[in-house]
Amino acid sequence: MRKKQPARFPAAGATWCHWHKRYTTTGVLVAVIEQASGPGVAVYACAPCQKRFRLTPI
Ligand SMILES: [Zn+2]
Repeated sequence: MRKKQPARFPAAGATWCHWHKRYTTTGVLVAVIEQASGPGVAVYACAPCQKRFRLTPI
């Protein structure tokens, strides 16, 4: 009998990685882009992208 892998889909806890442009469950907030026309935009990066682009969580 094979072990069943849980289905993966964007769910609670998933964030959008702005670097590889896909959903991730390892995303952390690395920046907030200031906008003149409203609140800043939160930018998340997944664990691999943090390493690749040397990003630091804030
Ligand atoms: Zn990523």
